[in-house]
Amino acid sequence: MRSATKILLDESEAPRRWYNLIPDLPEPPPPVLHPVTHQPVGPDDLAPLFPMALILQEVTTDRYVDIPDEVAEIYRLWRPSPLYRAHRLERALDTPARIYYKYEGVSPSGSHKPNTAVPQVFYNAQDGIRKLTTETGAGQWGSALAFACGLFDVDCEIWQVRASYDGKPYRRSMMETFGATVHPSPSDRTESGRKILADDPDTPGSLGIAISEAVEVAATHDDTRYALGSVLNHVLLHQTIIGEEALVQLAQAGETPDLLVGCTGGGSNFGGLMFPFLREKWAGRMSPVVRAVEPTACPSLTRGTYAYDFGDTAGTTPLMKMHTLGHDFIPDPIHAGGLRYHGMSPLISHLYEEKEIEAIAKPQSECFAAGVLFARTEGIVPAPEPTHALAAAIEEALRCKESGEEKVILTALCGHGHLDLPAYGAYLAGEIVDKDWADADVQAELAAALAKLPAMST
Ligand SMILES: *Cc1c(COP(=O)(O)O)cnc(C)c1O
Repeated sequence: MRSATKILLDESEAPRRWYNLIPDLPEPPPPVLHPVTHQPVGPDDLAPLFPMALILQEVTTDRYVDIPDEVAEIYRLWRPSPLYRAHRLERALDTPARIYYKYEGVSPSGSHKPNTAVPQVFYNAQDGIRKLTTETGAGQWGSALAFACGLFDVDCEIWQVRASYDGKPYRRSMMETFGATVHPSPSDRTESGRKILADDPDTPGSLGIAISEAVEVAATHDDTRYALGSVLNHVLLHQTIIGEEALVQLAQAGETPDLLVGCTGGGSNFGGLMFPFLREKWAGRMSPVVRAVEPTACPSLTRGTYAYDFGDTAGTTPLMKMHTLGHDFIPDPIHAGGLRYHGMSPLISHLYEEKEIEAIAKPQSECFAAGVLFARTEGIVPAPEPTHALAAAIEEALRCKESGEEKVILTALCGHGHLDLPAYGAYLAGEIVDKDWADADVQAELAAALAKLPAMST
């Protein structure tokens, strides 16, 4: 058993429930607040944007939520996803550590995003919603939502961050192939987009701006709602299918993890893998260290402030207490577009504040080096986002080489990089530059963005 390379679950062993971490938290998380009144939001405040089923999942204190049959049936197209042991990477590193990765690149759009896109569209379709709007950074979320909308015959309109719209034309083609309409963001189709363009016509855009545009269109049309691909509790809930499967697979391999490591943009693949393991840890059945890895160009956990902030740039969303660089902060257009978000999931932020998880930041050159080594040993070209987790896994494996420790390391390889090959091309040509966080301009930008955090009365 122990030397298995690929651990697959039968459909009959597939988990049938998502896991909600909230009732097991040692301390309850701070409430989400109304952007104007600063009072905790109620279900009615969110109803223009989301279907009630998702709003209830956002706040439920039930430990488990059943996966609807219709969703489970679609999951079967790619789930359960494989867990691999990285034997060849271990050998290349000459490490006594055992490295496992849960591979989400087998999904229709090539990442973990369909795990939540499918149930989100399902609940909206059940409500009779005809159209969903959303933003996309790297294009991964847009592709996943476009795919899911197609299955339920719901229209899909997507604002793609300008830098990625220009740099990743194949992602746009994929979204359009699945039937979606795609606009670059900022666009002249919304008030928030026009405002940003008037200030800076050449802006590369940001996730925060694209969210403002998609939310604006959903809020002003009755038959249209909005879908978010990360950050919110219900998104992380749906992603726990990753960790629930991985728990069973790792047990089948006869292993208990010592280190869980994952990349964090808004925190959904990370939370999805980690939450079931944290439950096991709090129940005393294992004691892994849990480590988040973010890019040095957008280090919300390690350099941000823990404060109430808006989820979007225009300041229209409810206020969430999270680690944030400020909703005005526009990160450098790094290749890991999915990690370019100014804030962090409130649940992940809360866990970090409570010291239940650790966080580190990695420059993109180190991450691409890890991605290339991984491709050359394991045969999968990773998306730029999970190369951050791979870089941290490799770092730990090399430490094990020094100390002789046989640690078991588990990471989420949350997507493949087949549509990110221009970024690999740039890396191989020596064209990748790392953002220096100590740079005076960056510090001034951050200070300006943090100064615009909403003033709270408490
Ligand atoms: C969207 C995305 C991310 C970042 O989002 P999280 O919510 O932090 O998971 C990371 N990796 C890939 C492949 C993505 O598509």
